[in-house]
Amino acid sequence: MRKGLIIGNWKMNTTFSEAVVLTNQIKLKLEDLEGIEVALCPPYLWLYPIADLLEHAPSFIKLGAQNLYFEDEGAFTGEISGKMLKGLVKYVIVGHSERREHFKEDDKVINNKVRAALEWGLWPILAVGELKKMHEAPKGRGRPTSTEVRGNVLRQLEEGLERVSKEDVGKITIAYEPVWAIGTGEPATGAYANQVCQNIRQSLKRKYGYSASENIRILYGGSVKPDNIAEFALQPDIDGVLAGGASLKAREFIAICQAVAEKHLF
Ligand code: PEP
Repeated sequence: MRKGLIIGNWKMNTTFSEAVVLTNQIKLKLEDLEGIEVALCPPYLWLYPIADLLEHAPSFIKLGAQNLYFEDEGAFTGEISGKMLKGLVKYVIVGHSERREHFKEDDKVINNKVRAALEWGLWPILAVGELKKMHEAPKGRGRPTSTEVRGNVLRQLEEGLERVSKEDVGKITIAYEPVWAIGTGEPATGAYANQVCQNIRQSLKRKYGYSASENIRILYGGSVKPDNIAEFALQPDIDGVLAGGASLKAREFIAICQAVAEKHLF
């Protein structure tokens, strides 16, 4: 069974003291959970101090970066490379819709980042998702058609994974995040998200074969909260979640982790 994974994407939030308090609260309350992995993705500035705080935390709590640049070093003002992140974080988010939108990252750039991460031994979380709500799915209810999914999400998936080998794909996690659901308080339904995650897995199977595709974790992200997590956690093709807003509130994030861990008890 694929181990459940919960990613907390703090985005450009938290002061240093807030980051410390949040980490300590999460660390304390997650102590007893089993069968899951959790990755905290704070702003770059807090990675080292949080790595120190996590030194005596349960080993299933990992550190992740929110981004990386694909070059290793050089005249790239403001950027952070895989070479710098190596040994500090396990995971790195690549292709988040906010990077695509505000920083104009296209699939080629994202693919370069995925491959740079792998080269430095990091585990990429490749985020993909359609911009607009499927027309037949008012408020995210209902199922998207496979043509719509293929034309959008699967293109990002295929291009993001270009020249990624079968050996390396085991380190990849896919985060399906419909853009219309991110930070809007309007999540997809579990059935809708599961349908897309199933399409993603089928596409991975075509490219990498059955057993590789069965081992890849596919997460859902978009307005996940404690009151809707069960709907996603119970879906067969959803292996965990990527949480933004809820990851900044210890109580909410812990409840989400607990719900995913419960699924993995069975
Ligand atoms: C995200 O940051 O990718 C995200 C899903 O945010 P939120 O949970 O706030 O919708």
